[in-house]
Amino acid sequence: MQEKTCHRCNQTKPLTDEFFSFHKTKDGTPTCGWCRECHREYSREYKTKMRKSPQWSDYLKASKSRMRTTARGREYLNRCKRQERKRRRCRLRKLPATYTERQWNAAISHWQGRCAYCGKECTPTQDHYIPIASKECPGHVAHNIVPACIECNVDKSNKPAREWLGDDSKADAIEQWLTQQKTDMVSENQLTYLNTQNFLRGA
Ligand SMILES: [Zn+2]
Ligand SMILES: [Zn+2]
Repeated sequence: MQEKTCHRCNQTKPLTDEFFSFHKTKDGTPTCGWCRECHREYSREYKTKMRKSPQWSDYLKASKSRMRTTARGREYLNRCKRQERKRRRCRLRKLPATYTERQWNAAISHWQGRCAYCGKECTPTQDHYIPIASKECPGHVAHNIVPACIECNVDKSNKPAREWLGDDSKADAIEQWLTQQKTDMVSENQLTYLNTQNFLRGA
């Protein structure tokens, strides 16, 4: 069996897919210098370091648009997106999910069929004011769901709403309305029932 010494950790390992990720050049010689474990370790260290830097989000944007230029990159990004959706759904399931059709209709009529963020007339989508990905997220509940146009919803994504809006008076108005929704909560029994209903619907 062919073996290879990793240029980083100097360990000799079998030259198989399990230990090395290599691309073969035209004459069949593998071009990868580091073993998989070293690659993993390096990217872990690099990420931890980069996450602390203020340029992290710029870096993410740049690397994403770079990835989008190749088929392999696009495939990877789509895989990440699917994974993220899955995580999001799982998380959503552990959180309270009491939102009803009635509450949604009331929300739409309160915001007069407009996006609560930009004011555009639209077919509103349900945006979680405190993103599902956030630790503070109260869940899929009336005091966390805001009608938003698809553009705002996508653009806001996992960002904190107030920061993303960049408009305190708008944020105040939305938060005030959301707080009102809290007082309009259903009884504890109904809550459990609605929770199971939402589960079944896969909300
Ligand atoms: Zn190594
Ligand atoms: Zn909008």
